[in-house]
Amino acid sequence: MHDVIIIGGGPSGSHTARRLAEKGWKILVLEKNTGVGRKTCCTGIISRECADTFEIDNRVILRELNSAVLFSPSGNAIHLHREEPQAVVLDRSAFDVLMAERAQLADAEYQFNSRVTDVTIAGEHASITGLKKGNNFQITSKAVVIASGFNPGLSERVGLGAPKDYAAGVQVEVEAPGLEETEAYFGATAPGFFGWLVPTSHGMARAGLLSRSEAGARLKQWLRRLAEQGKIMSADVKLNYGGIPLKLPPHTYGERLLAVGDAAGQVKPTTGGGIYYGLLGAEIAADVLHRALADNNLSAKRLSSYERAWRRKLGRELRTGYWARKLFERMSERQIDQVFKIIKSSGIDEALLKDKDITFDWHSRAIISLLKYQLITRTLKVFKLPFKSDDIDR
Ligand SMILES: Cc1cc2nc3c(=O)[nH]c(=O)nc-3n(C[C@H](O)[C@H](O)[C@H](O)COP(=O)(O)OP(=O)(O)OC[C@H]3O[C@@H](n4cnc5c(N)ncnc54)[C@H](O)[C@@H]3O)c2cc1C
Repeated sequence: MHDVIIIGGGPSGSHTARRLAEKGWKILVLEKNTGVGRKTCCTGIISRECADTFEIDNRVILRELNSAVLFSPSGNAIHLHREEPQAVVLDRSAFDVLMAERAQLADAEYQFNSRVTDVTIAGEHASITGLKKGNNFQITSKAVVIASGFNPGLSERVGLGAPKDYAAGVQVEVEAPGLEETEAYFGATAPGFFGWLVPTSHGMARAGLLSRSEAGARLKQWLRRLAEQGKIMSADVKLNYGGIPLKLPPHTYGERLLAVGDAAGQVKPTTGGGIYYGLLGAEIAADVLHRALADNNLSAKRLSSYERAWRRKLGRELRTGYWARKLFERMSERQIDQVFKIIKSSGIDEALLKDKDITFDWHSRAIISLLKYQLITRTLKVFKLPFKSDDIDR
């Protein structure tokens, strides 16, 4: 019997597998696709901090990013630029393969074409059932990690519950030979969210947006505009879709069970970026599971320390980020334009860029810093904050 079965060979699943296998546990990763990184819908932007923390090597990095331009609904632009690269763009498929290779090197086993359909806990083990090339399979293990990404159906079936809020993401690869900086568009392109155009390599770019409805139709419309403006060569491209949890599922642990990554809602609610938070969650999950396996105590009570630990690390970011997300979704195009004007005319953009603690991944500090400007809170009609405005330490 395997010690732990991990459902899903994305970055969060593979990193959990690697860390547990390195401790000597017998690990099996079940992946529904024919291999890892086969069907990814992701722009692949991670911070330099994430790349350094998880030793992501240059072979899977397409490009470094040190500047971005944000466009308001009326086309007012804010340039954000720092000398040092703040982020990198990954070859997302190659990255998934790298993470799986590291787990395999530590002796984790992978089984492909294996779609898990259910998990039941029966006394001293977990029983995992699924389909492999049309045939049913059933395997047992001491514990299970749900790392199946945004998959509310499976999360519900295993008793964790579905995320309480989510959005749809849609993305395409386009030819954009002149594009040198990341661009983000607010307003009608993606109401309540934003659209992005990110240069990758060899004149190519990823264009995408998040939305609560009609994500594909909105992207097509926007691509046609970008093509008319000459920013991209053609709007005739295949769309890729993915779901993004914006809020946590009710539980991220249970008897003999943990969830990591998107399956645990470890995603920035501001941008939908989930790679870094998922890897941080995986690190904590592997640590808690290792100790629980060593003590032969895989009860829900014992594993609850996982949720406490990862919330200590990410909880504040998720709470503040989700509050800011809901505020942003209520803003009219006029209010967004006004905020852009205030930021530019008061030099707030420069002040934020100078604050070294405001970084690509930790948004609560930037949100709270912005809300210290009365001009902004008055424009947004924010009279009471749900957190202390001097609470800006991580
Ligand atoms: C359009 C879009 C753009 C994005 N851009 C970024 C970005 O720039 N930066 C960033 O940080 N994040 C981005 N994200 C989010 C990011 O892709 C996810 O947060 C990240 O992939 C989560 O990793 P994960 O390992 O938790 O899940 P996933 O990467 O989704 O991996 C889950 C794995 O589980 C497998 N699986 C699912 N169900 C089953 C099953 N029943 N049985 C067996 N296997 C199963 C899947 O095939 C998959 O391989 C984006 C998302 C979208 C939709």
